[in-house]
Amino acid sequence: MPFYDLKCKCGEIFNVMASMSDRENRRIRCPKCGSSDLEAVFTNINIIQSRKQSGAECPNISQCGGMCRHMQ
Ligand SMILES: [Zn+2]
Repeated sequence: MPFYDLKCKCGEIFNVMASMSDRENRRIRCPKCGSSDLEAVFTNINIIQSRKQSGAECPNISQCGGMCRHMQ
C-alpha cells in the first residue's frame, strides 16, 4: 500500500499508509482532530531527485544544464 502525506484543515500534517479505497471512502482521519477533510501534500522530493538524475544522464549537460529534457 502506498504512503500518503496528508494535511488536515486544522493544520496537522501526518503520514499514513492507506489503500486507494480508503482515501476514496474517506476512511482516513486526522489523528489530532478526527476530521476526514484532508488534502494530499506533495513534498516534491522524488520529483527533484529524478530531475537531477535525468540531467546527469544528458551528454550535453555542460551546455544545456540538464534542461534539454524539458524541451522534449
Ligand atoms: Zn485535524
